[in-house]
Amino acid sequence: MGPGRLPPTVGASRVVGVDLGGTKILAGIVDDDGRVRETRERATPTSSQDALIEALLETVEELRDSDVAAAGFAVPARVDRRTGVALGAVNIPLHELSLRDELGVRLGLPVAAINDASAAALAEHRFGAGRGSSNLVMLTLGTGVGGGVVIDGRLYDGWAELGHMVVVLDGEPCFGACSGRGHVEAYCSGTAADRVAERELGPGATAHDLVDQRHPALTPIGHCLGAAIGSLVNVFDPEVVVIGGGFGIAAGDLLLVPARSAVLREALAPGGQQVRLAPAELGVAAGMIGAALVAYEAL
Ligand SMILES: [Zn+2]
Repeated sequence: MGPGRLPPTVGASRVVGVDLGGTKILAGIVDDDGRVRETRERATPTSSQDALIEALLETVEELRDSDVAAAGFAVPARVDRRTGVALGAVNIPLHELSLRDELGVRLGLPVAAINDASAAALAEHRFGAGRGSSNLVMLTLGTGVGGGVVIDGRLYDGWAELGHMVVVLDGEPCFGACSGRGHVEAYCSGTAADRVAERELGPGATAHDLVDQRHPALTPIGHCLGAAIGSLVNVFDPEVVVIGGGFGIAAGDLLLVPARSAVLREALAPGGQQVRLAPAELGVAAGMIGAALVAYEAL
């Protein structure tokens, strides 16, 4: 327990879920039925790991009351679920950090950690677009591209870094700490779409300008996304592929319609015909709700 802190009330029944994104931190008090009560949002400090940790702690403390019994953190990093260690991230300064121990000790609460897109997949499976499905794949299109997989109703515990699948051999360099080329992230992330926007519309333009204008440059992005989804259908045979993340949700059908055509071509029958492509129903709250779900497991 942290110095000078009161322990949670006996029988405390709520948790704080925190979604650490590449650009912002979103946190909220979440009930065990997925209902979000109160939220806080702040910019993600990217100057150092210490600044990042302080911001996460402050965000939890702002929300915390005596009814909060645990905290869960969804982070854009590869996370060892057994140990709660963030092994490394592509787009933020997070490396070999034991979130469970470091944040747990400082907060004086049980803490769980999970990859952010896996958290979103868990939440969409439990409460959102994937309710009732056995096999689900989630792709989050934000600063980067994250992935999560549910198999036979259970979250797959491996990395599921679906954004770092190769879709173009020797293609565009990937971002941040990733040394690869031609990865989904380099074509379908919000960051990649920002670059397309600057090329099409001029300096300072962003992915949101493309969406606002329903710009045709979104079509090849959707096509590329669909090719990736087609491969995922061939591997996992999911009933539903959920598309989330800030850019994915904002673009919606502007990506999903061309993606559907590519899925029909790339996926083996009848997977391509049967798979449902669905926008995330929980919106940008999915990661936060998934973080809360693993916090409940930590109680
Ligand atoms: Zn990559």
